[in-house]
Amino acid sequence: MTLLEHDVALAAVREAALLCRNVQAALKSEVLEKKDHSPVTLADFGSQALVCRYLAEAFPEDPVMAEEDSAVLRDPAQATLLARVVEEVQRLVPTATAAEVCAWIDRGNLKSYRPRFWTLDPIDGTKGFLRGDQYAIALALILEGEVHVAALACPNLPLKAAPGAPRGVVFTAVRGEGAWAWPLWEEGEPVRMHTSAVTDPTQARFCESFESAHSAHDAAAEVARRLGIGVPPLRLDSQAKYALVAQGEADLYLRLPTRPAYVEHIWDHAAGALLVTEAGGRVTDITGAPLRFNCGPRLTANRGVVVSNGHLHAAVLEALAVVGVA
Ligand code: AMP
Ligand code: MG
Repeated sequence: MTLLEHDVALAAVREAALLCRNVQAALKSEVLEKKDHSPVTLADFGSQALVCRYLAEAFPEDPVMAEEDSAVLRDPAQATLLARVVEEVQRLVPTATAAEVCAWIDRGNLKSYRPRFWTLDPIDGTKGFLRGDQYAIALALILEGEVHVAALACPNLPLKAAPGAPRGVVFTAVRGEGAWAWPLWEEGEPVRMHTSAVTDPTQARFCESFESAHSAHDAAAEVARRLGIGVPPLRLDSQAKYALVAQGEADLYLRLPTRPAYVEHIWDHAAGALLVTEAGGRVTDITGAPLRFNCGPRLTANRGVVVSNGHLHAAVLEALAVVGVA
């Protein structure tokens, strides 16, 4: 594995994070409703345009499976939104035109599995973004169904788990090489990440979605009771949860299905999953099966997600079975 892909992914999500930070600072009423009613902002489009442009320059042959497409933006009724997206992109790429921005966004339109492709969530945790909480720009390279490179920018996550620590961290991983945390807004030395050494479930700290519609909080509470976990869960949006486990700041991340029909998107998990496994942890679905990134845009072979420091994994899977979730 060449490290070129790592460096390009790191630079691409850093640039997109700048755009997201600018937009979050100015966030007013520019929220659209997608057909599925999740909020979409101009930052989603701007972030996807910047990352896809970066990838197109470095790897023109590589397809990208990303969350957004430009259909909404090309609608003449949305001319104002398109102009705002272009304006935000131009703050980072001054020569960008509206046609280029739409074309970059549409480079993310891969819909089916390929032996080599990137997957991108331009803003993971849109609800957190709108609340001013956690969100992430999540990018991963998938080769033969395995995640090989991950870059996850978390603009609002503190660099260290210390009070008053500066916010903004970007996490990267390369398969077989390890996982690192870097300062997001400036160049700096990375810190190698390792999952925690906690082996006693009663000492475990777990995290889950802020949104109860995305992960069954009641079922997770039952599992926690069964394991004797004493502290309440840390609730936060986006794949920042994976980063907390990779850094050893949490020991578990539970994502338990809220309804049988929901199938997870690959861009909500690919980057985070590599961070955790390269930091020494384990990632499976609720039955213990590995996540399969070769089924298209969704994890159709899997149900829910269980992320751990490795040591606690078997105990969690057992508790899920006993409680009747798995
Ligand atoms: P999080 O910030 O961890 O709550 O996850 C945000 C992601 O949840 C979004 O990117 C959506 O793709 C995804 N999502 C939407 N609906 C559901 C659902 N019912 N169950 C699980 N995830 C969902
Ligand atoms: Mg997402």
